[in-house]
Amino acid sequence: MSDCIFCKIIQGEIPSVKIYEDDCVFAFMDINPISTGHTLIIPKMHAENIWEIPEADLAAIHVASKKIAQAMRNALDPLGVAALQLNGRGVNQLVMHYHLHLIPRTAEGPEIALTKWDLIPGNMAAIQKTGEKIAAALR
Ligand code: 5GP
Ligand code: ZN
Repeated sequence: MSDCIFCKIIQGEIPSVKIYEDDCVFAFMDINPISTGHTLIIPKMHAENIWEIPEADLAAIHVASKKIAQAMRNALDPLGVAALQLNGRGVNQLVMHYHLHLIPRTAEGPEIALTKWDLIPGNMAAIQKTGEKIAAALR
């Protein structure tokens, strides 16, 4: 979709810190991370939400989430990893291209909100470094 920022990220028109890609799925670091390692997993084919996304893409995202969560565990040693996915403005979906958040919680990190949090731009050098650690653990 031409005016979708996540489609632009997939096309490389907007830069991103990519950590994983396969035929159906693209994963990259969130630029306003709730925690160190906050990652988004999206379908390459645009779909807005859980009602629109084809089942095959949904399955591929969840298979990828297992690989990425494993890499997060190896790379970051978190207390846990939250998988979070919002559908519709009523629960504060901000980007209308389906995305699964993977949010690791480290020992020093606060509890993780469910549908509302402040978007605070992260330090891009630190995000890049964490992304490289997770990507390396995926290989
Ligand atoms: P939602 O509330 O829709 O589930 O969350 C959208 C997420 O997309 C937010 O965590 C936000 O930080 C992230 N986001 C929005 N724009 C961009 C962008 O241009 N690049 C990246 N990497 N993340 C983005
Ligand atoms: Zn899109």
